[in-house]
Amino acid sequence: MTTERPTELKLVFDEPVQRKKAPKHLADFGPAERKAFAKELGFQPFRAAQVATHYFSHLSNNPDDWTDIPAAERQAIADALTPKMIELVTTRTTDGGMTRKDLWKLHDGVLVESVLMRYSDRTTVCISSQAGCGMNCPFCATGQAGLTRNLSAAEITDQIVAAARACAEGEMPGGPTRLSNIVFMGMGEPLANYNAVVRTLHNITDPNPDGLGISARSVVVSTVGLVNGIEKLMDEGINCTLAVSLHTPDDELRDSLVPINNRFKVREVLAAADAYEKKTGRRYSIEYALIRDINDQSWRSDLLGRLLKNRNAHVNLIPLNPTPGSKWTASRREDEAEFVRILEGYGVPVTVRDTRGREIDGACGQLAASEKEKI
Ligand code: SAH
Repeated sequence: MTTERPTELKLVFDEPVQRKKAPKHLADFGPAERKAFAKELGFQPFRAAQVATHYFSHLSNNPDDWTDIPAAERQAIADALTPKMIELVTTRTTDGGMTRKDLWKLHDGVLVESVLMRYSDRTTVCISSQAGCGMNCPFCATGQAGLTRNLSAAEITDQIVAAARACAEGEMPGGPTRLSNIVFMGMGEPLANYNAVVRTLHNITDPNPDGLGISARSVVVSTVGLVNGIEKLMDEGINCTLAVSLHTPDDELRDSLVPINNRFKVREVLAAADAYEKKTGRRYSIEYALIRDINDQSWRSDLLGRLLKNRNAHVNLIPLNPTPGSKWTASRREDEAEFVRILEGYGVPVTVRDTRGREIDGACGQLAASEKEKI
């Protein structure tokens, strides 16, 4: 492993200048600003709330059905307020259709992916917040390609609305259902695209017709541990669930597994997660990809158990999904079991994540990477 120690890591809270801006869409704005957006485009301000109802409440992308708007104006209003943000390139399915991975092309040809997973009690979409990622974690497919650009709020929101529509229209086996959970675990570091992610969180949790009306407790923002982002997020009043990608309890290894650790140490990240938990009342998750002979030793489980035993945290162990060309692989079954046993000995709640979607390049960034090779 030859991960260089970054000298300075710049954290971006505002979108950097994009090469060519994504078109503006009503999902880029809060309910009050949407009126001004409609007005600016030459439409009556009340059209914004009508279109938001079609978009968030009815999940309709067919202006022919928007009967509260004069027929002659529907298409123009739809094109202006809800321009096409994402275009489907490929879909791969597995688990008898219960897992589906969509590859989307953005207005400038950039590719991102989302994964929709139906379970007996819920349906979850895993979405991308950036094209690529600047965090450079060596085991992650997205990290290898670097950051292409931030997504706009509408580009993120549209992945969710597309998933909600697919559920409502019965595209998954088992008939129509409701999208219940959203996880920011696709491509990108959500807290490095802070403003667009927070706008999206409002779009998810605001009640119909301003948003999708999905409970914040069903939304997980997963982060490498950008402490200033975590501290900011807890004051937004959104109270979604936080997941921290820890991957090892010791700074020495974490400095290379999650390079942002050179800026924010394990102790600081856990303190920020604790503060988040205190403020929001939400137990947080610790994500831990188990990598054979790298971070799966029993002494590391012991250290993790001691770090977490008095915290309101839950450990989510993820068997490593090896990225193409990687020399690393998932832990041995017995090492995984021992890791779990030690954590449980400290009374730390632990689950081993199921590995849905492996055969469709379900791991973070892998579908986009394999498509790019083909293009
Ligand atoms: N940037 C955010 C979201 C990324 S993806 C974060 O780091 O939390 C969500 C989770 O998948 C993260 O915990 C990430 O570390 C993990 N992950 C990435 N690549 C993986 C792989 N090859 N195998 C297992 N987990 C992986």
